[in-house]
Amino acid sequence: MNQIVIGEIVIPYELKISTRAQRITIYVRQGQVKVSVPVGVAERQVQKFILSKQQWIYKYWQQFQEQQILRDRKIYKSGQIFPYRGRNLTIEVGEHGYKTIGVSLIQDNLWINFPVNAPLENRPYYIKKALVFWCKKQARQIFRNKLDHYAGIMGVKYKTLRIKEQKTKWGSCSAQGNINLNWKVIMAPDIVIDYLIIHELAHLKYLNHSRDFWDLVADYMEDYKQWRKWLKDHGGDLEV
Ligand SMILES: [Zn+2]
Repeated sequence: MNQIVIGEIVIPYELKISTRAQRITIYVRQGQVKVSVPVGVAERQVQKFILSKQQWIYKYWQQFQEQQILRDRKIYKSGQIFPYRGRNLTIEVGEHGYKTIGVSLIQDNLWINFPVNAPLENRPYYIKKALVFWCKKQARQIFRNKLDHYAGIMGVKYKTLRIKEQKTKWGSCSAQGNINLNWKVIMAPDIVIDYLIIHELAHLKYLNHSRDFWDLVADYMEDYKQWRKWLKDHGGDLEV
């Protein structure tokens, strides 16, 4: 197999000599790289062409790898990537001396520890359950801290915080000053969490999305539009 080496990344590709090809073409489909070369083109020339396109190849190849990670996320096992506050944590499944499943974050590893001798059946199901439970707990604490922090800065007071789970709704604020936040946002980068919190707190002054409302949001986060867009573009991926 031929390979393209970009730093530490090795991308294999398939080379096809084609009698019909007029020029060298590169395809990246489903993470597979194929290079089609007309008959009689020198190897050196092919290499030069690939080299000139390597950034482009990398971009499309990488996109596929990232999507693959998202697809694989559904299978809960060791080595799987789990997004958390803008970091890519790696799930590690282990055992511990306690009677219930425990979750602990150690550096970039999210350890899911089963009691010693726990049955092996349905592990992915229990890992998912433990992950959701852990995320909700983190969300409650981190959202609360951030709410208190920004409420102080913005000079507003909210009443209660409720942690919710909805498909696509990230947050809401009632006329009574009760704020609801979707725990799944804990999987987004911190700046996105901050944006959401500033957004909901700004509703304590304006219960609409008027010009004044957005001006207020911008007072506390100048580039909020970028993070609002992030949530729109990537919110659907925030799934356990
Ligand atoms: Zn709003």
